[in-house]
Amino acid sequence: MSKSVISILGSTGSIGCNTLKVVKFLGNYRVAALAAGRNMELFARQVAEFQPEMVSCDDEYCAEELLQRLHSMNASIPKIELGEKGLVEVATMAEAETVVSATVGAVGFVPTLRALEAGKRVALANKETLVMAGDLMTKAARENNAEILPVDSEHNALHQCLRGESAQEVRRLILTASGGPFREKSKSEIENATREQALDHPTWNMGDKITIDSATLMNKGLEVIEAHCLFGFDADAIGVVVHPQSVVHSMVEFVDGSIIAQLGVTDMKHAIQYALTFPKRQKNCLPPLDFREISKLTFEEPDMDKFPCLALAYKALREGGTMPATLNAANEITVRAFLDGKIKLSDIPRFNARVMDNAEKVPASSLEAVLDADRSAREAAQTLLRSEQVSAAQNSLAQG
Ligand code: MG
Repeated sequence: MSKSVISILGSTGSIGCNTLKVVKFLGNYRVAALAAGRNMELFARQVAEFQPEMVSCDDEYCAEELLQRLHSMNASIPKIELGEKGLVEVATMAEAETVVSATVGAVGFVPTLRALEAGKRVALANKETLVMAGDLMTKAARENNAEILPVDSEHNALHQCLRGESAQEVRRLILTASGGPFREKSKSEIENATREQALDHPTWNMGDKITIDSATLMNKGLEVIEAHCLFGFDADAIGVVVHPQSVVHSMVEFVDGSIIAQLGVTDMKHAIQYALTFPKRQKNCLPPLDFREISKLTFEEPDMDKFPCLALAYKALREGGTMPATLNAANEITVRAFLDGKIKLSDIPRFNARVMDNAEKVPASSLEAVLDADRSAREAAQTLLRSEQVSAAQNSLAQG
């Protein structure tokens, strides 16, 4: 049997590493191309093991380090590409049937779009690309006979619950949220949370950006927008319920009141494998869900007052156009600022809201319009951050 051929954008991240584990377990896959950012130690080991023909990394310094490491391992040397051009080369490599899009943030946007235009199946973990320009992405998929298979666990669950169902018979989609590390904390505790507290996610082990997004519920907000883009339901037909055990990965409620849920262990390998092997299901490397270990499943309403980022995402979705791209870009900047110790956790929604308030609403009808909104929002967020730092410094001078 001939092997299925895949490329991975973001191979050294959490989804990328898990994809390689799935590929290794399944056995009948060949990795044709890999792209990573700057972690060349791990990347060199991946390249040596999976022997792709083409790889891409951030810049020539990374490429130099990669070459040295590969030489010292006596590994074969692939074609090496750089930067966004390299990501696009990896995303559109002719032989690859499936592209796993697992870079973090807006950097994956253009390469993912190009993969869809090239007619690939895209196993999509990078939700920001859909949030930025869901219409452009789904249009590219339709016009080029490409497919988007969601790797995000909630959307993967929804995809499974919707199999064989008619959209007219759906009342609403119900996304589950773990609630993050601050579910039971007060507003002031959230305001003063440290980086370490925010990075300590109770059920999922993920990268820094998405873990902070989970702590603010921005992640769930982005996922509401993502669900709209993938499945075509509007904001009123997409609900969120907090389910701290993360056993139910999401649910679909039908017009007759029936609810179909997808349950499973909390391991991204499950969703990754589903996206690779769909429409087939195959045995995976995970233990089955053990009901004896689940003492209870609980559900509660999300608190939009404690977690204003979720409300902001609904607002951006209802406003439409480039507003989701604006929110996404502002959020990338504010999360980075929080991780760098420059702002408090509660500043993230505050700055995001101000960037949205000041942004011009434009139809997201072209790549340029989306990239423009993205760029303007980043600049606006940076400007707000700088002006706040200047006034904070002036205050402390005045007090000192
Ligand atoms: Mg998710």
